[in-house]
Amino acid sequence: MDVPANIVDRISRRVDEMREELVTFLSDMVKVPTENPPGRYYKECAQLIGEKMRGFGHEVAYAEVPKDRIHELAPHGNGLPRVNVVGRMRGEKEKPLLHFNGHYDVVPAGGNWTVDPFGGVVRDGKIYGRGASDQKSGIAAQVFAIEAIRREGISLLGTVESSATPDEESGGQAGVGYLVERGIISKDKTDYCVITECLDYDKICIGHRGTLWFEVKTKGKMCHGSMPVLGVNAIEKMVTVINAFNAKIRPKIEAIKTAYPVMPPEARQSSLTVTVINGGAKVNVVPDECAAQFDWRLVPEQDVSDSYAELLSCLEEIKRSDPTFRYEVSKIMETEPTIVPTDTSVVKAFLEAGKAILGREPDFSVSPGSDDQKYVVHKAGIDQCIVYGPGPLSLAHKIDEYVEVEHLVKATKIMAIGALSLLGFKA
Ligand SMILES: [Zn+2]
Repeated sequence: MDVPANIVDRISRRVDEMREELVTFLSDMVKVPTENPPGRYYKECAQLIGEKMRGFGHEVAYAEVPKDRIHELAPHGNGLPRVNVVGRMRGEKEKPLLHFNGHYDVVPAGGNWTVDPFGGVVRDGKIYGRGASDQKSGIAAQVFAIEAIRREGISLLGTVESSATPDEESGGQAGVGYLVERGIISKDKTDYCVITECLDYDKICIGHRGTLWFEVKTKGKMCHGSMPVLGVNAIEKMVTVINAFNAKIRPKIEAIKTAYPVMPPEARQSSLTVTVINGGAKVNVVPDECAAQFDWRLVPEQDVSDSYAELLSCLEEIKRSDPTFRYEVSKIMETEPTIVPTDTSVVKAFLEAGKAILGREPDFSVSPGSDDQKYVVHKAGIDQCIVYGPGPLSLAHKIDEYVEVEHLVKATKIMAIGALSLLGFKA
């Protein structure tokens, strides 16, 4: 449904009035150091968000992963609690239903920050801290977008939900994965989904690249370092593997240029890079084992199974030419690339909402990494799912991460207008 100019103005003015409250809420969230791994202070952060939504009139429910499944769904989480929170504002009818989701876990602060990464510092029109951009900013925007509609006394015809989830930074199984498993996000129930990741306030993200993380172990035969010819050096075998990937796989995959608008443009091709290597124990011992981990990113034109087959055939080729070559390979994580259609209501609503606030239609983008959109699209089967949220992607996971207040405010307005357009309303 079209959102007339007078309603856009009312929402816009209302969000401007709430600016300080919005900034304070984001700053308060940043102060909760929800570093993942291992996933600290999740309960505290989920409750902070849940209480804010309750105060704003949502029905609030918590979906905590049961103790006996924590190890399965969060293997790197040291058994710490995994808590999801869902706010719900029923409109005149149950349907259509729009679900906003953001993740509240953050990557460890690390590095030499010039501000306290968990101080919630607000300075010169920016909010600083780990998660200020990625992506507590998106959670603040989704919660205040719904509140702006409520404070204007505009009643929604459909229903809006707003969830905040953990573990996106470690795969999301105990977060959005769990909401999908429990049917809290499902194809029957959920018509539209907006993941509020920091993919820039002026872009609508329609998907992400795929991921294939894997480990190769080379096996050797230990012997004295003074007589290496009597053994088989596992590290040297790993050098052969890395050289073969560089010579045979990389040139081929780097030549695949995607037609999709992956940001930054440097990421518009597939990449394969070694990221971890372990082997050897002592300077005078020829090592019998070496393990290396690799990060392969897939453009939407590729898929995981073909890529995995390609690396297996490369390893088998080495084996054929070298009888002493022995290896094991295992997947660490796999995510298919995701792309949603652009002719859907959710995309159109956010293009229009963007135009109303920014004066021009937002561009499309595709994320270079992967995010929780994968669960909604591939597991729940909902293709009306976009990623839209404030915060520059370029600052995610870096030191002195921040979000501009102005961008936070604009994204909040766009989310509110997008929701009105999708759900219908009576002003
Ligand atoms: Zn994120």
